[in-house]
Amino acid sequence: MTEYIKFEDIISKNGDSNSKSVPEVNNKETAKTDSTKMKLQCCRCRPDWFVVDGLGITCSGLTYILILFGEFVVIGVILLPFFPGSPWSYIHAILFSCCGILAGCSHLRAMTTNPGTIPKGNFTDENVKHLGLKSGDVVVRCTRCECIKTERAHHCSTCQRCIRKMDHHCPWINNCVGEFNQKYFVLFTFYIMTLSAYSMALAIHYVLRCSDNDWKGCTIFSPPTTIIFIVFLLFEGLLFGLFTMIMFCTQLNSVIHDETGIEHLKKEARVKQGNWKERLKDTFGGDFGITWFSPFSSLPHHRKKHEFYDV
Ligand SMILES: [Zn+2]
Ligand SMILES: [Zn+2]
Repeated sequence: MTEYIKFEDIISKNGDSNSKSVPEVNNKETAKTDSTKMKLQCCRCRPDWFVVDGLGITCSGLTYILILFGEFVVIGVILLPFFPGSPWSYIHAILFSCCGILAGCSHLRAMTTNPGTIPKGNFTDENVKHLGLKSGDVVVRCTRCECIKTERAHHCSTCQRCIRKMDHHCPWINNCVGEFNQKYFVLFTFYIMTLSAYSMALAIHYVLRCSDNDWKGCTIFSPPTTIIFIVFLLFEGLLFGLFTMIMFCTQLNSVIHDETGIEHLKKEARVKQGNWKERLKDTFGGDFGITWFSPFSSLPHHRKKHEFYDV
């Protein structure tokens, strides 16, 4: 829930009493706040980016298993036995492995990068005063994590915190997609989409060539085992290829139009800044180049205002 409070109400309340002027809430809310504080203390024993969510941990672990399965079938079942000694076999194996490594690294960065967390419980008099607001201005407070809600921030019920420029919570990366990890999420969908298309093209070519030949000299496994591997690979490629293609296009559209998934759903109207080229540069880090495709490059943090939010 979001609460809009006039700046002067907070200040006048502070003048009346020496106690903290966080707005009064009912008993239920107070209990919720206490519980939030307890959880906050507990959270200090694990990294800030790690979200304790069973579905998210399962899905993110499954991602690596699926990538490794794809690598095994493409390299171990298709390429090396089918093209023994051929340079093409090694070229495809190296390219496919590079895509797999880049997909895995993009996933790791998306999962382990703070998406833009606003610290829980930072709605204090001191922080509100630092905002430099004047009479008539409104401060937005999230009643679930007791933070000062910045513009375009949304509360994630899975992460139990407010996230700057939150797009959505993704169980496949066990994290929110927000201001600071969107690039890595886009790269993750891009590389999985590429891997899927690449594996399906190699598998279809392999099946067409080998089925004419009764699979002779095509495989080190028995033909039925090989067919099962290929069917699973094609199913995985089709399913995740389509899924990541849709996600990739949606994310790119979100960056170009400067509208997060939540803003699109809520049809929130706001003044947009810059043109689409500037937005792409801002998200992917500078002018177009190899760094746009690298999950190893770090992003400039645009924390021009409200630095104290991170106290
Ligand atoms: Zn919140
Ligand atoms: Zn989340």
